[in-house]
Amino acid sequence: MKGQKEMSEYNWCHNPSCHEIETQSRIRGTGDNKVLRTMKIKVGRYNYSNDNTPNIYDYFCNQNCLHQFLNKFCVQIADTYSVKQPSETPIKVKKEKYESYRYDWNSGVNNETVRVPYMATRTKIESVE
Ligand SMILES: [Zn+2]
Repeated sequence: MKGQKEMSEYNWCHNPSCHEIETQSRIRGTGDNKVLRTMKIKVGRYNYSNDNTPNIYDYFCNQNCLHQFLNKFCVQIADTYSVKQPSETPIKVKKEKYESYRYDWNSGVNNETVRVPYMATRTKIESVE
């Protein structure tokens, strides 16, 4: 299965246009027979925990190639992993009061800025087990 590969394996960048991007790192060949080649990627190069966790950058050489791929195939991806209805996560919403500060510019005795405390409210989202 893809993504479950040994650390010493390589993938070619999956952006079909990777080889058209003009960078020195893609130049291969000699003399008048030079080409821009698809980037070769060492599988697991960002897998710092040394497990078999799949990583998107095992398949794409960088963000640019990833997004070119996503833009080119977004319809196919959406069709393959289609979302026909929204999902919901049960939560509890709590309002919390806490002390915050506002700043009154030049309102001090000597025109200095004064920090004025006030009670603010924040909304906390808590997960439901
Ligand atoms: Zn690429």
